[in-house]
Amino acid sequence: QSTSRIEIAESNDELTHLSNVFNDMLDKMQKYIEQQKQFVEDVSHELRTPVAVMEGHLKLLDRWGKKDPEILDESLSASLQEIERMKSLVQEMLDLSRAEQVEIHYKNEKTAIKPLVLQTVNNFKMIHPDFVFNLDDAVDEEVYVSIYRNHLEQILIILLDNAVKYSTDRKEVHVSIAVENRVLDIAIQDFGEGMTHEDTERIFNRFYRVDKARSRHKGGNGLGLAIAKELLLGYKGSISVESVLEYGSIFRIKLPIYEEESND
Ligand code: ADP
Repeated sequence: QSTSRIEIAESNDELTHLSNVFNDMLDKMQKYIEQQKQFVEDVSHELRTPVAVMEGHLKLLDRWGKKDPEILDESLSASLQEIERMKSLVQEMLDLSRAEQVEIHYKNEKTAIKPLVLQTVNNFKMIHPDFVFNLDDAVDEEVYVSIYRNHLEQILIILLDNAVKYSTDRKEVHVSIAVENRVLDIAIQDFGEGMTHEDTERIFNRFYRVDKARSRHKGGNGLGLAIAKELLLGYKGSISVESVLEYGSIFRIKLPIYEEESND
């Protein structure tokens, strides 16, 4: 999916940085998909042989084994052996799939929220001049969250990118930052396709895409929101969505505010 990569021609530090973060993300997703594909291929291939061997033996049994104790014994023990092989294969595959999951390295650092959101939104303004981005940031500069800066940026990019990607005629995105009960709340609202209530419960699953036919030509692979959710959970945060089909969606992320270590 090299077509959806962002290429920045002029030298612009912020945009270059944004495009690097974005392209890294795409590369990781691409790698992940390749791994999954390879995995499914391997499983199918590895399981085909024991299944074919067992089929042969069962056919033999069916035709002659009922009357021939020698064939009966041999085919039974060969089939049981193949079953053992399949069992250990399945276990191996499971272990492999767990091990191959892209690992996230969580890193807690004191990150100022307001400038990061502001900068990310400004970058999107530059990349999508046909869109209106509103930012309601009624919080002070001193709001911090304990999160690796690049991870928060990655989450914001996923949500802003979706807001743009699944928009319809009304090309508007509203972003708001608020703090309530020491919890940071960032909401990203669009006025695009929206989705049904059923879909809101599935979109955070890996590879899930609403209406595959419609979303296919928009690029993407159904991993963005799953990654955003996994990242947020690692920082004791959460993500949720409210959506109305054909009206739009609000994605909301919550993260606990950074607490200075107290000495008492
Ligand atoms: P991708 O966008 O690559 O398909 P995501 O995990 O980011 O993967 O999103 C999963 C699915 O959720 C999308 O395919 C789309 O159907 C739906 N979706 C995500 N964001 C929005 C949005 N802002 N408006 C409508 N649908 C959305």
